[in-house]
Amino acid sequence: MRDTDRALVQAASAVAKLRCRSAAHTLATAARTAEGRVVSGVNVVHDSGGACAEVIAVGTAATQGVHDLETIVTVGDRGRSLVTPCGPCRRLLAELFPELRVIVGPVDDPRVVPVTGLLEP
Ligand SMILES: [Zn+2]
Repeated sequence: MRDTDRALVQAASAVAKLRCRSAAHTLATAARTAEGRVVSGVNVVHDSGGACAEVIAVGTAATQGVHDLETIVTVGDRGRSLVTPCGPCRRLLAELFPELRVIVGPVDDPRVVPVTGLLEP
């Protein structure tokens, strides 16, 4: 964990605290470029499916012309711990950002893993 990784966890936690205040939004993702730019997103929960916070963050990044995400983290609302991306998100992230670093684990002892390390063999 680098200082910038800890700052990214704090950024995601801040978004979760500020913006995840209903059943429609329960997770927040923050992603960082090598240059230090941070984009974020919250999930959208709906009976018909919704979208993961990681997908929203990637879409937000693309909307802002950011195509080189280096590190990503997702946290739960109401002080819940870090959340490891789901299977489809792992594949999406690995395809778009093969070098991506993912912060996972308990919030008091997080660690960084390569996104490719989260894929099924
Ligand atoms: Zn997902």
